[in-house]
Amino acid sequence: MIDKLVIANRGEIALRILRACKELDIPTVAVHSKVDAELMHVRLADESVCIGPNPSAQSYLNIPAIISAAEITNASAIHPGYGFLAENADFAEQVERSGFVFVGPTADVIRLMGDKVSAIKAMQQAGVPTVPGSNGPLTQDSERTIMIARDIGYPVIVKAAAGGGGRGMRVVHEEADLLSSIDLTRSEAMAAFGDATVYLEKFLQNPRHVEVQVIADGQGNAVHLGDRDCSLQRRHQKVVEEAPAPGIAEDARNEVYAACVKACLEIGYRGAGTFEFLYEDGRFYFIEMNTRVQVEHPVTEMVTGIDIVKEQLNIASGQPLSFSQSDVHISGHSVECRINAEDPDSFIPSPGPVERFHPPGGNGIRVDSHLYSGYTVPPYYDSLIAKVIATGATRAEALKRMRNALEEMIIVGIKTNIPLHRQLVVDEPFGQGGVNIHYLEKKLGL
Ligand code: ADP
Repeated sequence: MIDKLVIANRGEIALRILRACKELDIPTVAVHSKVDAELMHVRLADESVCIGPNPSAQSYLNIPAIISAAEITNASAIHPGYGFLAENADFAEQVERSGFVFVGPTADVIRLMGDKVSAIKAMQQAGVPTVPGSNGPLTQDSERTIMIARDIGYPVIVKAAAGGGGRGMRVVHEEADLLSSIDLTRSEAMAAFGDATVYLEKFLQNPRHVEVQVIADGQGNAVHLGDRDCSLQRRHQKVVEEAPAPGIAEDARNEVYAACVKACLEIGYRGAGTFEFLYEDGRFYFIEMNTRVQVEHPVTEMVTGIDIVKEQLNIASGQPLSFSQSDVHISGHSVECRINAEDPDSFIPSPGPVERFHPPGGNGIRVDSHLYSGYTVPPYYDSLIAKVIATGATRAEALKRMRNALEEMIIVGIKTNIPLHRQLVVDEPFGQGGVNIHYLEKKLGL
């Protein structure tokens, strides 16, 4: 087992990782920015190291500072959580070169999946269904590009190979706009990511976002843990997630699971990962892979009974997967609401002191949060402050429990989006299941 783990993250996910370490008797080192000395997991960790000032560029993204913290504390492994350096192949490489275990896949695999063109190619080789597209980068040959777009059929979407976080994409509705849109996306991609490579995909009009959770040990074993629906989004940011995705055709689902597992084995995947798909008219279309634990992992844990973070740590310790596909059973339904410190109408972040915090409870309720009364939410980082996860035997039961939980939950001092979630859990079309990725923004009149 890992001798000592550095938790290279903050907030709820840092606390989540710390709890898993405590269960596994792994000593922990919390690394934190100046203001984050007050975080819950910093207080609970065995050791803590301040790695820099508040801006994340100087702390949570500061690779030498994080590796030095591992060195001076004699740690043996580093867990990156999500966001920050979690999908930075150079970080993974430097961690391993410095003699530490990176809790995640190899740097090569992160790099392969971080480039969308190479990721799509690898997926096609493994038989994972992808969006019809240019099957590779666009060249300077305009005639060729125009023919590719005609073959795909309009509307198409121009995407940067190095894009991420919803940036580096442009929808094109007619041929007259194609070449100028490509030029624009190229220069934006060059400026934002230092890579002007772009490709084309069919633009799907009303898809759902459905993703498949996988775990592999890098030793020849890979399993899937079913799917999640994360279609309720605002500006490509997920707001509510659930497992399993409601109303998915069973054949398509089983086919895509098998393809994801095969892909893991073919690319030599190690650790927890997620294949993200658009789902439309009964079909799955791969868009990207996240090579890390995700914010929404708890809904999968609740319906499978598998602790994804503990499995990550076991795998990073060199152990083979402790279960096989036939041990994975999906039971019941689980929904997660992301509670953010923000104005529920304008979505403007609302950092500040939390005067009172009362988390909900009861049968089927889980709250992953680093908040406590007296804690001050700093303005420097993501506004996620809590995840409320409600689980029931059925989707209807999970939603009722969520409704109760949101009624019970009290956060005084800062604004939160709890009022928005209270509306969403009783929203009728959402209640029926299967709304598409545009539904929330339309409902909000955006
Ligand atoms: P990023 O890496 O920036 O998150 P993704 O490739 O995951 O980019 O796409 C982000 C979002 O953009 C998707 O969730 C979806 O809403 C939209 N999108 C991406 N590709 C397509 C497509 N081919 N058709 C329709 N929508 C798309």
